[in-house]
Amino acid sequence: MSSPVSPPGDDLIFLDETVRAPDATAPASGGNVWRVMIIDDDADVHSATTFALGNLEMQHRPLEFLHAYSAAQAREMLKDEQDIAVILLDVVMEQEDAGLQLVRHIRETEGMTEARIILRTGQPGYAPEIDAIRDFDINDYKTKSELTRIKLFTTVTAAIRSYEQIRAINASRRGLELIVRASTELMAQQGLENFAAGVITQIAGLLSLKPEGLLCVQESANNHTDNLIVIAAAGHYAGLMYKPVDEINDPRIVAALKEALHTRRNIYGADYTALHFAGNARHDFAAFLNTGEPLNEIDQRLLEVFCSNISVGLDNVLLVSRLHNFAFYDPLTKLPNRTRLIEILGEKLAGPDAGEAILALVDIDHFAETNDALGHQFGDLLLLAVAARLKSRLDDAFTLARVGGDTFGVLGDGLLVNPATILLQFEEPFRIDGQAVQLSATVGLVRLADYEGSGADALKDADIALKRAKLQQRAGHFYFSRSMGVDIRERVRMMYALRAAFDEGRLFVVYQPQIDLATRLPMGAEALLRWKTEDGTFISPDRFIPIAEYSGLIIELGEWVMREACEELVRLRDIGYTDFMMSINVSQVQFRHPHFLETLRAVIRDTGAPPAFVELEITESMAMEEPYLLIKLLEQIKQTGISIAIDDFGTGFSSLSYLQQLKVDRLKIDRAFVTEITGSARGSSIAEMVIQLGRNLGLSVIAEGVEDERQAQILTALGCPQAQGFLFARPMAVEQLKDWLKTDGLR
Ligand code: C2E
Ligand code: CA
Ligand code: CA
Repeated sequence: MSSPVSPPGDDLIFLDETVRAPDATAPASGGNVWRVMIIDDDADVHSATTFALGNLEMQHRPLEFLHAYSAAQAREMLKDEQDIAVILLDVVMEQEDAGLQLVRHIRETEGMTEARIILRTGQPGYAPEIDAIRDFDINDYKTKSELTRIKLFTTVTAAIRSYEQIRAINASRRGLELIVRASTELMAQQGLENFAAGVITQIAGLLSLKPEGLLCVQESANNHTDNLIVIAAAGHYAGLMYKPVDEINDPRIVAALKEALHTRRNIYGADYTALHFAGNARHDFAAFLNTGEPLNEIDQRLLEVFCSNISVGLDNVLLVSRLHNFAFYDPLTKLPNRTRLIEILGEKLAGPDAGEAILALVDIDHFAETNDALGHQFGDLLLLAVAARLKSRLDDAFTLARVGGDTFGVLGDGLLVNPATILLQFEEPFRIDGQAVQLSATVGLVRLADYEGSGADALKDADIALKRAKLQQRAGHFYFSRSMGVDIRERVRMMYALRAAFDEGRLFVVYQPQIDLATRLPMGAEALLRWKTEDGTFISPDRFIPIAEYSGLIIELGEWVMREACEELVRLRDIGYTDFMMSINVSQVQFRHPHFLETLRAVIRDTGAPPAFVELEITESMAMEEPYLLIKLLEQIKQTGISIAIDDFGTGFSSLSYLQQLKVDRLKIDRAFVTEITGSARGSSIAEMVIQLGRNLGLSVIAEGVEDERQAQILTALGCPQAQGFLFARPMAVEQLKDWLKTDGLR
């Protein structure tokens, strides 16, 4: 029956006039038919097939035929065809395997995976390989002689069933994908309205309809359909947003929605569909869609799946919105909180208009005191008043957030968000509980222009600027500068590294001998802390001591140095250096710690170090702060027998009488003045004055940083009794120190 190679035109010529020449390009008549494509180069097969199947109807849907008379023509037609349920395909056409190649084309190139394919061939012996049947998802393989009218009928019926099932499976898979996408988008959208609107567009997409519909939520304590509000509306219904359903001027819609909610079922009308989404105890949802025609069974089933899944989604959205409110909004002021501000900042930074934007942190001065003095309730009212004023006085083109107890974040254009405008809001008193309360605020600002960090970084930087502003003065402001941030972040990194180094024993103490200038013999040593990092580099104490002070680690660290030095002192005494003094640096932070004296006594007691041979070095700047406390503390220290030196002497401006009151034992001439003495030929230098001062007050004097012989000689000539410096010895580890004492120490 099949003629292997015949051009398509020939077949058309031989067509029986009584058979209606099928118009292969006739548009598909919607979703109401099963479309069957016949591809065969034998016109008789076409007519025989349409005759055999012509009055087949499945689920009230008739068949519609498409005809192609060659593989080439089929390819052409398939370009614009979708929704073909069954393809009856001749294997041998232009080529021996034209049909099989066409199958590959249908499945792979056109991506038509749902259409069922029934292969037909005239030659009984000519069977395609099993592989091809499996690989290309071919439904059936029949020789033409096998396909009697009845056989053809049952084969096509089975194929349509199978097509329908595949469609349903794929459709619900798509539905599930939609739900997955919906919930992902939901996270991004955050908000019931957005989600609900998404539901409508997705259903419309699923049914290949224009989004024409609305979704309403029923909020009720009881089970009546009261409080039915539209929360999403698309297409014609857009104007109905947030309207009570009862106000909708279309009884058909109102009735359909209520029926769906009441019966808790989907309602499929002739030209509309009302869907029910079972919510939790307090909420049910219903959607109305203008479908224009009744939905077929697949679409209906699909919607059932969709609705039950979406219900979970809607419930989650409600939950998520509520959680969202908790997570992102401050419950007191209802303003976005810190987390939300970071998000907004992130969006701003990613967007095009970050350039002019400024983030300001506005901190209410002395809020904690006010809160303590007048109570939390008053404090809350105060915060509300500040929030309200900032919100009303500034434009609405900015974001106001509450980022901390008494700190607000203001994000917006620099024209609006600047210290002058913000601080102006605090000039007038706030009226709280009938009282006028005058407040002031401090502002830290960061410009988002060219900002590279994240939203969180920007907030951190604004925080840094705020702290800086507070340090300087209250009711002031400070703009963040890059160096500030690097500085602080670097310090934080170093703080962690220092802590780790201390815990892992990578800190150690070295000792730098101190010399009697008259005899050039060692009389003691200064204990100096060292940090050798894992890669072997040394970090200067000038860098890490301030960090240890800043982080409080200095308390532990300082005690440890004291113990090490005292233990070493005891060991040195054990091997005969009984006149040896040990100088220990004490930081201001350590000194001010309430347990300092206790710690010092404990160290002396535990190590058995003789206090008379222990000296504490405190800096001159430290000696100048809180004089009366210091005088008292120094007296207590002196009672233990420990002596005191003033380090870096000459850099501060201690008054003489104060120095006398402090009852210190030794002055340490700062290295800067020692370096100076060789430069100035003139006799009177600061070093000289310090030496004289020491003599007049009866204090010992030591010059530090003596690097060359000339300096040593001048100092000796000026009557400086002691010196320390690279000329005599560098700071050394314990073992080296012992060696040095044996040889150079010339004991
Ligand atoms: P400082 O107390 O003034 O210590 C003297 C510093 O001068 C030491 O630096 C020492 O190595 C250095 N030096 C000694 N002789 C010479 C010299 O001839 N020429 C020059 N150019 N430098 C000399 P280092 O060890 O780097 O210590 C720096 C600062 O770190 C110390 O200044 C002290 O303020 C602090 N520091 C060191 N160890 C401790 C400690 O255990 N506790 C506390 N609180 N501070 C410490
Ligand atoms: Ca020192
Ligand atoms: Ca010094």
